[in-house]
Amino acid sequence: MNALAATNRNFRQAARILGLDSKIEKSLLIPFREIKVECTIPKDDGTLVSYVGFRVQHDNSRGPMKGGIRYHPEVDPDEVNALAQLMTWKTAVADIPYGGAKGGIGCTPKDLSRSELERLTRVFTQKIHDLIGVNTDVPAPDMGTNAQTMAWILDEYSKFHGHSPAVVTGKPIDLGGSLGREAATGRGVVYATEALLAEHGKSVKGLTFAIQGFGNVGSWAARLIHERGGKVVAVSDITGAVKNRNGIDIPALLQHKEATGKLADFSGADAMDSNDLLTHECDVLIPCALGGVLNRENAGDVRAKFIIEAANHPTDPEADEILSKKGVTILPDIYANAGGVTVSYFEWVQNIQGFMWEEEKVNQELKRYMTKAFNNIKGMCQSHDCNLRMGAFTLGVNRVARATQLRGWEA
Ligand code: NAD
Repeated sequence: MNALAATNRNFRQAARILGLDSKIEKSLLIPFREIKVECTIPKDDGTLVSYVGFRVQHDNSRGPMKGGIRYHPEVDPDEVNALAQLMTWKTAVADIPYGGAKGGIGCTPKDLSRSELERLTRVFTQKIHDLIGVNTDVPAPDMGTNAQTMAWILDEYSKFHGHSPAVVTGKPIDLGGSLGREAATGRGVVYATEALLAEHGKSVKGLTFAIQGFGNVGSWAARLIHERGGKVVAVSDITGAVKNRNGIDIPALLQHKEATGKLADFSGADAMDSNDLLTHECDVLIPCALGGVLNRENAGDVRAKFIIEAANHPTDPEADEILSKKGVTILPDIYANAGGVTVSYFEWVQNIQGFMWEEEKVNQELKRYMTKAFNNIKGMCQSHDCNLRMGAFTLGVNRVARATQLRGWEA
């Protein structure tokens, strides 16, 4: 099932549980605006090349729309649509005053030079500058984009609208980025994990963890779990996988990865087949890489008791059913990885206030938001006798539906 079908299915189930009015249900499924633009740039060799850029703005009833911009060869309008909708529910679950959006350009960033990437980003910004904005739609980095991309968008946007640091988040610190933003998604994953484990009378210390993906989210989650006395027994990334049943020394693995660019040949762990990571013996499995990795082929073999969805939609609906029958507790993506957008919100607040927070304050506030959202999700699970995924969906959908109704319907 593709990402949009799976997201719509979860939304419809939440709408049924909530007994949502059919008109509201229909209006919440339809995106507010879908933008498609041609971005034509000269390559370094002087030839002209054209890329298609998208921005889907899903809903703005709770505030400006918020979501990443990805540069990827397979940016597909259906997936962007699903991800924009997920952002609407995610920002509502985190209870930050935003709606949802997502965008991207169909390109292969590693095949473009830095100056080509800069030109492409500036042309894309020229095409959408009147449709994004501090109070309208606030982009952020996603796959294939980074703080530098946001700096170019900020600069290009500011040529039209005056200096506007709050138009994007995930910026370099020197241009108004927030302290703590880089670690925020991984840190949020760990706060979410702590809240879930505490519910089950457990803590990170002494439990075993397997982590798929050792990029921004996975490496920060691993580092913070290690700091708290959790045993990270297996880690994988695109280059391979390593395991150590006594727990991997994560700071040493980070140094090894930094020095060699890969996980293989790390002296403190044994090599393993990356395909076995998701079914490795552990208490907690944290997918931090791709979508759809847990499916009907491998779900039956998962040995973890808890899955924390740090990646976006790592579990397809068939795997969801198999895992829940096995008694595995899944902490859903729209909550588990909301730490990134929450600290993006703090960045926007700091830019609007013109006042920079200490990192300690950012982390404290992040913990407060993640803990409160967990308690709110549990409240929905109890009221509607549902699992955590439906608890999160009903929480998010209900908040957006209430805002929509309060704002009124008449055109
Ligand atoms: P990243 O590009 O920094 O890291 C991705 C990691 O996944 C890399 O280590 C890569 O080697 C690994 N990977 C890729 N293919 C793999 C494979 N087949 N097997 C094992 N590992 C593989 O990306 P990120 O920012 O860490 O994002 C990871 C996930 O978290 C994505 O699903 C993203 O949508 C989601 N997410 C990220 C953020 C954020 O703030 N970065 C926020 C919310 C959700």
